[in-house]
Order: sequence, then C-alpha cells, then structure tokens
Amino acid sequence: MAKKLGYLLYACTGVFLLLGLLWGQRTIHPVVSSGNPPRLKTERPVLALTFDDGPHSLYTPQLLDGLKRRNVKASFFLMGKNIEGNEAIVKRMHEEGHLIGNHTFDHVRLNKLSESEACSQITKTSNVIYKITGQYPTFVRPPFGEWRPGLDCAITMLPVFWDVDPLDWNNHNTEQVVQKVVSSVQEGDIILLHDSYDSSVKAALEIVDILTKQGYAFVTVDQLLLL
Ligand SMILES: [Zn+2]
Repeated sequence: MAKKLGYLLYACTGVFLLLGLLWGQRTIHPVVSSGNPPRLKTERPVLALTFDDGPHSLYTPQLLDGLKRRNVKASFFLMGKNIEGNEAIVKRMHEEGHLIGNHTFDHVRLNKLSESEACSQITKTSNVIYKITGQYPTFVRPPFGEWRPGLDCAITMLPVFWDVDPLDWNNHNTEQVVQKVVSSVQEGDIILLHDSYDSSVKAALEIVDILTKQGYAFVTVDQLLLL
C-alpha cells in the first residue's frame, strides 16, 4: 500500500513538474478554433498592431524607436512609392523583426483596375521590398479595404483587413485614437493605424503601454492569423 502511494505521489509530482514547465515556457500554442479566420489560442491575449501608408522619413523611425524600447513587433503595410529614399528604414523594420506587407505602389483601389494593372501595383511594390529585405511579402492590405477576390498575380498574396479603426489619419488626435482603441479592442483584434503622423505614432505607443499593462501581448499578423 505504502509502495502504491509512493508511486502515486511520484506520478503526481511528475505531472505537476510537467505542467510547471509548460506554464513556465509560456509558448504560443496554435489551436484551430471554429471561427474564420482561425486565430491563435495563447496564454496571454494577443493583438496585432498594423501601420499603413509608410514608410515616412520622420515618423516611422520614431515609431520604430518606441517599439524597440518596448520590445513590440508590428506589421507595416508599405506603399511602394514611399519606399524610395527610405530604404534604410525598411531594412531596419525587417532587421528588427517587424512584418513587412504590401499596400500597393500608389494606394490604388484594386477593384477599380484591370487585373494586370492591379497585379502591377502589387508586384512593383513587392519587388522593391524584396530588393531591400531579400524577402517577398506574403500579405497585402488592400487600400480602402477594397480587395479583388481571386486576383491571380504571379505571387499569391493573402489580404489582411482590420478589426479596430480609430480613423487616426482623419482626426490627428492622439487621445481620441488611444481611447477609441483601448475601449473597443478585444483579444485577437487587428488594429489599424498609420505611421505617417506624429499623433498616430504617439497614440500607438500609448496604446502599447496601456494594453501591455492590461495583459495583452503584441504579435505580427502572420502569428495572429494561422496559415
Ligand atoms: Zn492606406
């Protein structure tokens, strides 16, 4: 009996040790849920910060500095025409672990163009990014959220939309943007901002500070959306 109890105690200790190890690792465990698109199930609730329309020669580096200080990775959807002259910023984004996506070359409405024109807008931008980072983007954020389902370019791109849009490009009001995001955000959300404005950069960093204190972790969109 004593021996049996001993084995039981031994087995329980093993289970607790294993649970402790798993808890300690705090790894992200991908679990497919019933919703579409599937999202990661994680121990800390996750969010993705996304920035459109960059890079901006002044504000994007300020944002990168702030994200680096906070060890936060974000996703940047770049406009091809804004990259010229800002190549070093794009290189830095890539080196610092941010995800770089495509936001077309001229910020066009993809569903208003012919297929070849739409593909050219995407391909030109991807080629410029590839020259700098050595990687072709996988994700595209269609300007105005206007995607062409079934668009068949040389490289298949995955469209990424958003869940929270504080209209930062329109109101240029840091506090309004912060309040809109922190009051409406939910686990797994993709937040849309623009790194083209001082007010948006300040808002983004405030949002990170507030939501980190609330227990959220920030991941890039490829980590958020299961592939
Ligand atoms: Zn845009």
